[in-house]
Amino acid sequence: MTASPARIVVAGGGLAGLRTVEELRGHGYAGEITVIGAERRPPYDRPPLSKQFMAGAVDDTTLRAELGSLGAEFRLGERAERLGDGVVGTDRAEYPFDRLVIATGARPVALPGSARQRFLRTIDDAFALRAALVPGARLVVVGAGWIGAELATAAAGRGCAVTVVEAAGAPLAGAIGAEVGALTAPWYAEAGVDLMLGQAVDSVADDGLALAGGGWLTADVLVTAVGVRPDVAWLESSAVKLENGVAVDEYLRASVPGVYAVGDCAAFWSCRFGRRIRTEHWDGALRAPAALAANLTGGEQRYDPVPYFWSEQFGRMLQYVGDHRGANSLVRRGATGAPRWAACWLAGERLVAVLAVGLPRDISQGRRLIESGAAVDPARVADPAIPLRDSAR
Ligand SMILES: Cc1cc2nc3c(=O)[nH]c(=O)nc-3n(C[C@H](O)[C@H](O)[C@H](O)COP(=O)(O)OP(=O)(O)OC[C@H]3O[C@@H](n4cnc5c(N)ncnc54)[C@H](O)[C@@H]3O)c2cc1C
Repeated sequence: MTASPARIVVAGGGLAGLRTVEELRGHGYAGEITVIGAERRPPYDRPPLSKQFMAGAVDDTTLRAELGSLGAEFRLGERAERLGDGVVGTDRAEYPFDRLVIATGARPVALPGSARQRFLRTIDDAFALRAALVPGARLVVVGAGWIGAELATAAAGRGCAVTVVEAAGAPLAGAIGAEVGALTAPWYAEAGVDLMLGQAVDSVADDGLALAGGGWLTADVLVTAVGVRPDVAWLESSAVKLENGVAVDEYLRASVPGVYAVGDCAAFWSCRFGRRIRTEHWDGALRAPAALAANLTGGEQRYDPVPYFWSEQFGRMLQYVGDHRGANSLVRRGATGAPRWAACWLAGERLVAVLAVGLPRDISQGRRLIESGAAVDPARVADPAIPLRDSAR
């Protein structure tokens, strides 16, 4: 393979796809780039869709005012359907490549029932949903995850009667565990949102849902927000190894030479955590393309981030840094009823993750401790009067 491929195809025109093009040009790559994007719109930002956009504060989240200066061909409204030997096929054409970047992101999981289920993933979903969230409308959200919580916040602010139905015993249980997730449950009632925990859903219809165990919940607007899955079904007949997304190594290389993956669809090998990680975080889609572009243009740059994401819900800013799956203890920092608090996960004596509510400094200091792998003193971690960085032994 040459150090500077002549033709790069990027499948997926979201944040990770766009950033890949920007970073390639930033690295001086002058060859051909073709971006195949299933959505008709130019790349746009998703995080505001459940926040400022849903609240009515913004209408446009386009990421780059003009794409022309990138000198790439954007094939929008076109979906990659198959991957052959050095060629991507869509419903319209075949695109030969020297290198392929898979950046097809993630798509929402549907529940049994109505085929016309509403989700909140695209800006078209967001436009339609916002128009339906009129004062007094009964909104039922299935799932008290990040999107469910943010949507409930915005809808309550728009004067809707909001019910969130969650199968687990706590909000955010899948993302941050039931113990920490439970600390966010009181926020729902404070905002006038009805939260049903431990309540599985049998099926959804256009006008409501059937509760497992019996019962019906009527809705004017119903949104399924039970998570997403990597959008990689189009690769199932290819030689690319799939393992909760496209399995890539620490250089973002897939199992097939010349093929790479980045963003929500990529399950990358984390040297730091010693396992494969797939994040669904804006920060990953933003930053990973820098390492990817270096590797596409002949370099060898490891992608080994401390994952980071944030959420804005019920008037609070939540930030999370790290990966708590290898943790064996949890240390609370500050009274959890207080407006600001943090939860810190430790693996042995090492800090591996922090969730902070209204404490950005704990996030930046926690990130540095996680990066350094330093041992920390749990008693000092637990004391909010001591800066987190001073908990290092
Ligand atoms: C409402 C909402 C709020 C969010 N809020 C936050 C937040 O507060 N904090 C945070 O960290 N993260 C947040 N996220 C997550 C963040 O937006 C994602 O991590 C990020 O968008 C991932 O970018 P991506 O480019 O990898 O994937 P995507 O944004 O999913 O883009 C992938 C693109 O590829 C297209 N595509 C899929 N299949 C094909 C195909 N076969 N051929 C061609 N194109 C294809 C898709 O249509 C899509 O346009 C939020 C997401 C949503 C939906």
